[in-house]
Amino acid sequence: MHTESYSRTRVMNFRALFLWIFAMMPLLANAAAPQVRTQGPGFYRMMLGDFEITALLDGTHPFPIDKVMIDVSKEEIERDLSRDGLKAPVQGSINAFLINTGPKLILIDTGAGTLYGDCCGHLLANLHAAGYQPEQVDEVYLTHLHKDHVGGIFLDGKMAFPNAVLRVSEADADYWLTPANKKSAPEFLSTFFDSAIASVAPYIKAERFKTFSKNQQLTPGITSMATPGHTPGHTSYLIESQSNALLVWGDIIHVAPIQLQNPKASVEYDNNPPSAQRFRRKLLGLAAQKHYIVGAAHIAFPGLGRIRRNKHTYDWIPVNYEGDPGK
Ligand SMILES: [Zn+2]
Ligand SMILES: [Zn+2]
Repeated sequence: MHTESYSRTRVMNFRALFLWIFAMMPLLANAAAPQVRTQGPGFYRMMLGDFEITALLDGTHPFPIDKVMIDVSKEEIERDLSRDGLKAPVQGSINAFLINTGPKLILIDTGAGTLYGDCCGHLLANLHAAGYQPEQVDEVYLTHLHKDHVGGIFLDGKMAFPNAVLRVSEADADYWLTPANKKSAPEFLSTFFDSAIASVAPYIKAERFKTFSKNQQLTPGITSMATPGHTPGHTSYLIESQSNALLVWGDIIHVAPIQLQNPKASVEYDNNPPSAQRFRRKLLGLAAQKHYIVGAAHIAFPGLGRIRRNKHTYDWIPVNYEGDPGK
């Protein structure tokens, strides 16, 4: 009797063990799942009063901070990066911003297209993923004519936005579209002139290239703001709807962890570092004081956030994530 009960218990234990293994099999199988290692489509949406804003990611690329930053010591670079858990080279985002004002669809900056290689040139795919077609874009405004902002306007030698008018500041067009200026520019910028000329060519040919002078209202709710220094005609854009404001500031900041601590820190791409520093301080102060949302070309995607002023430094406060805005 005792033996029989013992062996029955043993059989039941085996059965329980078998059932447990069977139940655990899906979990064991999950543990061996291959890693995916990709992100979702690179767009982020928010409302700004009546305007819909879509941040679009063109890609990220390894930014050799320790080599390209000037007016800041190697020790400061290392200290500021490590405080944020980073070290050079840091992946830098290339962001663009699509503004649907209602009557018009406006794209500010266009990413690098094919000019930066495989890392980038994903803007059109992300535009599609965000629910828009390139044919719907009415106007493209560029902050400046560097490769990572202008490269996406053309595709296989044609206009990537076939119905758009391209708007660029007079000062940047005069500088980058004049090949003779190559002579006085640093050697590493030489190909930037060629790229700018090739990128805008289809728009000039189609008579869809229109420059603007300083500080103009380009469409109701969007005003250009001359912020020279990074390039001679570098332009920021103030977007306003229903007393909400977004400042799309282009390349005012390249590396937030360093330049928010020390706005004097510049990059060797800055055409006029003292002017770049002056406008960096001006726009940081303005954004903090007015509590603007900032749209930044090179702060981690989506590059939308606010600036908080400390005594001598600034903090970046990313916008709070919202699902399906305005619904
Ligand atoms: Zn630039
Ligand atoms: Zn840039």
